[in-house]
Amino acid sequence: MANLMQSGESILCINNGFFSHRMAEMALRVGADVHELHVGVHEAADPERVRKAIEETRPKVLTMVQGETSNTVFNHSLEEITKIAKSYGCLVVVDAVCTLSTMPLKMDEWKVDVVITGGQKGLSSIPGVSLLAFSDEAWAAAKNRIKPPAQWCFDIQLAENFWHKDGYHYTAPVSGIMALHEALKLVCDETLENRFARHLRCSKALQSGIEGMGLDLFIPNESRLNSVIGINIPEGLTAKQICRHISEMYRVEIAGSFGQPIVRIGQMGEQCREHNLFRTLHAFGSTMRDLGIKVDQPNGMAEMESYLQKTPRPLYQVA
Ligand SMILES: *Cc1c(COP(=O)(O)O)cnc(C)c1O
Repeated sequence: MANLMQSGESILCINNGFFSHRMAEMALRVGADVHELHVGVHEAADPERVRKAIEETRPKVLTMVQGETSNTVFNHSLEEITKIAKSYGCLVVVDAVCTLSTMPLKMDEWKVDVVITGGQKGLSSIPGVSLLAFSDEAWAAAKNRIKPPAQWCFDIQLAENFWHKDGYHYTAPVSGIMALHEALKLVCDETLENRFARHLRCSKALQSGIEGMGLDLFIPNESRLNSVIGINIPEGLTAKQICRHISEMYRVEIAGSFGQPIVRIGQMGEQCREHNLFRTLHAFGSTMRDLGIKVDQPNGMAEMESYLQKTPRPLYQVA
């Protein structure tokens, strides 16, 4: 935002929830003329609605999230939306914080201009240091701005000076960069193909286990994010109660949400592995029973096991 937007320029932010709205907040702070396209809570962004909004607002930049972690929606039409946006000359910014390396995101092929990520989600490194990628077009737009970005730390030209020209920007967070480097090495060892397959298999197995217990998932299958699973809270319980109980009794950490009546279970990176699924699902089912909710825990466990059995386990080869 700091590099692409200048005061008064138009930006369209597709708002699927908390994190996609955050990009609008960032754009506001650099003085952009911000328009938001609000998408229903249970839905992915619709390409034709985006086209209409682009025609109305003529933005320089379009922002969207690949996976909206807050309500567990997956914007499955990302490629099509990007194509539409590019046909109107927009630069497309994608937040792939929770999805990068858990599912395909073909930045070059789909002509996405900027991808932002976080170390601590799909990449399974530590928070604090993340990756940012610009297309040539976005890079040129950032370089050709009239005034430099107001924030010293966020200026990509200063960052380029550091990373590619042996210059000084600010003292780099060395341990975070090493952690990210190791995390990326693990991604390369595993290969993206196997990593995507592992995430899909584990997430779908857990989903079938939860449904097998008789609980409901928040998002319909076609728009459901696999990196984070959102589960409807049974009547009479609160997210806080569930999260505290599963943590204190079973030492399993799951998350509440940002306003939606759900709890969320992450399926990202290192923890997204078969052996963790059994402990997690068992702890979740037991928590429900402890808190007085009737669930068919044995059936849930059996459904998950049977999903895993019928879906081939991806290879994990260490180089
Ligand atoms: C977690 C998350 C963020 C925010 O990451 P922070 O490092 O906590 O700022 C942004 N976008 C998405 C999609 C996320 O899942």
